[in-house]
Amino acid sequence: MIEKLILTELKRCPFCGGNGKITTDGGGFRVCCEKCFASAQLSVDQEAATDTWNKRYHEWISTHDRFPEKGQQCLIYPVDGKPEVAHLEDGKFVFWDGFCIDANKISHWRPLPVLPEEVES
Ligand SMILES: [Zn+2]
Repeated sequence: MIEKLILTELKRCPFCGGNGKITTDGGGFRVCCEKCFASAQLSVDQEAATDTWNKRYHEWISTHDRFPEKGQQCLIYPVDGKPEVAHLEDGKFVFWDGFCIDANKISHWRPLPVLPEEVES
């Protein structure tokens, strides 16, 4: 069986507008910007790498569209507050200090940016 791989076009770099390029890296694929070398997370194949890059991690996602994965650290934008880092747990966003806010009080969220390669996690 021949598998047809249809690659979606890569969007431009969200930071500098440069061209994205798929690279192989540590047994996976990732898209890097040719100009500023910003890179997306490592993915299992080229298609996933393209998806990850095109997802535009810098854009706010409305909680009307979807919520983050449970436990995923993200930046949230409360309806009446300022952005803070929190993660979703049982219908509430939990902050670093354990303080919680109802998920329906959050209008938007976005995943945290990926750390640069040289930073140890
Ligand atoms: Zn760039």
